[in-house]
Amino acid sequence: MKSKKIVQKRYLLETGSKKLSDLVNRRKFLYTVAASSMAFYVSGCRGRSADAALEVRKIIPPRLDTAYLGEKILCYRPLRRGVPNMSIVTEGNTLFAHNYGHGGSGWTLAPGCSKYVVDLVEASPKVKGMAKDAEVSVVGGGVIGLFTTYELVKRGYTNITVYADSFDRLTSHNAGGLLAPVSMSNNPKIQPLIDQVGFDAYRFYASVAQGKQEDFRSGAVIVPAYFEDRESSGLEPYVGKVMQPAKDVMLDFGNGTKRKMISYDDGIFMDTAKMMQGLHDFLGSKVKFVQKKIDKLTDISSPLVFNCTGLGSAKLMNDSDVAPVQGHLIMLRDQIPANLQSMILVYFAKGKTASGQEVKRSFYIFPKQLSGSSANDVGVIGGTFIEGGTPDTPNIEEFQILVDNAKKFYGI
Ligand SMILES: Cc1cc2nc3c(=O)[nH]c(=O)nc-3n(C[C@H](O)[C@H](O)[C@H](O)COP(=O)(O)OP(=O)(O)OC[C@H]3O[C@@H](n4cnc5c(N)ncnc54)[C@H](O)[C@@H]3O)c2cc1C
Repeated sequence: MKSKKIVQKRYLLETGSKKLSDLVNRRKFLYTVAASSMAFYVSGCRGRSADAALEVRKIIPPRLDTAYLGEKILCYRPLRRGVPNMSIVTEGNTLFAHNYGHGGSGWTLAPGCSKYVVDLVEASPKVKGMAKDAEVSVVGGGVIGLFTTYELVKRGYTNITVYADSFDRLTSHNAGGLLAPVSMSNNPKIQPLIDQVGFDAYRFYASVAQGKQEDFRSGAVIVPAYFEDRESSGLEPYVGKVMQPAKDVMLDFGNGTKRKMISYDDGIFMDTAKMMQGLHDFLGSKVKFVQKKIDKLTDISSPLVFNCTGLGSAKLMNDSDVAPVQGHLIMLRDQIPANLQSMILVYFAKGKTASGQEVKRSFYIFPKQLSGSSANDVGVIGGTFIEGGTPDTPNIEEFQILVDNAKKFYGI
């Protein structure tokens, strides 16, 4: 697989040129709802008598005129078709632990999959008896690398170096922040493992949100998560394990437009930029951070090496199953924070971008804030799923389509 380094505006990533036909499957069913979604989206839902008994929730739409739109962000989900690589392998005297390829669910899974991979490592005979001050290297400074490092620190490892090509403005900072297993293409056989990892992650973020997590006092909040139906949320496996059942509700935007949705009232929003800062603050005095591109994992001399390089693994591992899924996001500014205390995600029909790429469009809105931004600069809208989209095909027109779709959704 051919790979090249690309630098563009807000990000730095490795990407590939392989043809991607089945990239964004997000569980089999996800986009089968698209046609009905589109019909609903166009018509809205105005006063249907059968829905009269539904709990009505008033939501004031965000300000979406140009003056209220902030930074436009283009970034890339690190998808690995079939399954994220969460495995260990011994080569010579080194144990390599892989943790990459989580697609659009890296944040949803990070605390759980990091625990899972470190468990695998600690169960290995090679590591049994290894001193806690043995040299450990983590390659990758995104959410997966930092949560893996956090897990190692919590288990008492004291000699950890985190290597990364870049620590700033990564996909991990830019991501939306909804806890839901989206944009993955998992082999159904491994779905129970992905679910289990997700439950562990949910428990972690819930403890942060409830103020019970000793190391992180902010970075996750519990807010209602609205979807069109239970199936498309991906969260049904969480119900009864870590979440309460969803409710049928009617969203009333106060302008004549109402939409029938379902709500997980114990949805979790992870404020990605803030949580990345929190991870750096926690780890800063406990591990070494070295900015360095690694060309070969075997160049690292530590007996224990964790590979958390996301899209970088396409080249580093020569892994042809790793591929980018482009996404468009727009930060909102000068909003009323009280009006942005929920999350919404709806899907539309597949289309083509101006450059001819297949695009799966959605509309989502989350209460994200960039580090250091003013209290009113809250909210992000997205977004697209573009198979094989790279910085060479930025599909810039999708930003305007996103705004137009958002306005239609709210009836403004
Ligand atoms: C538009 C969009 C919205 C998203 N929304 C959500 C969401 O709502 N919920 C959710 O759960 N997930 C979401 N995601 C997905 C999530 O952002 C990713 O799954 C996650 O950030 C991946 O983390 P990572 O650490 O694997 O990769 P990255 O953040 O890309 O980090 C990779 C790290 O590896 C380093 N690296 C790579 N190659 C090398 C090398 N050769 N040598 C040294 N270092 C190297 C990089 O410099 C970087 O530090 C979204 C993604 C996008 C694009």
